[in-house]
Amino acid sequence: MKKLYTHENRMIIFNLKNVLEDMGIECSVINEFASGGAGDLATFDTWPELWVADNDRFVEAESVLQKIVFDRNEDYWYCTGCQEKNGGAFEFCWKCGRSSE
Ligand SMILES: [Zn+2]
Repeated sequence: MKKLYTHENRMIIFNLKNVLEDMGIECSVINEFASGGAGDLATFDTWPELWVADNDRFVEAESVLQKIVFDRNEDYWYCTGCQEKNGGAFEFCWKCGRSSE
């Protein structure tokens, strides 16, 4: 089991989970009930995480993730931490979690 993605917006996590499960890729959400809302207690550590159960399909799941993230918006930005390409709708790097600011 490998962690695929984490995001403060659990709708994005569950949307992705649905897509992967439609493809027969088994996955589960951890920290499902984390608030992710305002307040000092909402940290990156409590964001919902999407884990892929089948390691053999992780690369496939990762490509689906990128497609979903990048097709969402035509604006891109590059992470200053890991140089990863990110969709404009995202405030944080999908790979390392660094802010786009
Ligand atoms: Zn990054």
